[in-house]
Amino acid sequence: MNTAGTAEVAVRHILGDKVTGGLLAPRTRTITWSAAHYVVKRPPSGKHTVELTCTECSASLLAEVRDHSFTRTFAAVLKVLGVLCAVVFLAAFAYAVHEGGKTLPEGQSLPVLFPVSVIAVAVTFVAAPTLYVQGRKYNGVSMLDAPKPRRRHQIRPVPSGSRGARTPR
Ligand SMILES: [Zn+2]
Repeated sequence: MNTAGTAEVAVRHILGDKVTGGLLAPRTRTITWSAAHYVVKRPPSGKHTVELTCTECSASLLAEVRDHSFTRTFAAVLKVLGVLCAVVFLAAFAYAVHEGGKTLPEGQSLPVLFPVSVIAVAVTFVAAPTLYVQGRKYNGVSMLDAPKPRRRHQIRPVPSGSRGARTPR
């Protein structure tokens, strides 16, 4: 099957979002949902809007679908940025360890770059895997609008080839 012209998504109807624990027990967040799978058509170029219906509450959601080449490019850019962040992370980490481990002569403070490198380590530690994973998952479909309460629905990419997909009317 030619997957270039279509994208598979899951429309999630959020049933519950509970956070337990906190002070004594470790915090755990439990989100439950029911999902319906859809196959949406990609436009030949640019983007178009499709309407998907939630099978749980029959709400209609608007999703924006990008063409194949934009999707591929954007996904690749995200992955490259993720890799770049990993490189910055390693460099900043090595620098921070190097400078932080020095014994400074009295009256001399750490270079200005030291706090910058610590911030860079913290930011890229989160950004690198996030960007990379987003790049791998990105399929060019994003939710534009949903009836209120909006946060109770999500549209998630589904790796192509999964069964049970349906075509929106
Ligand atoms: Zn719903």
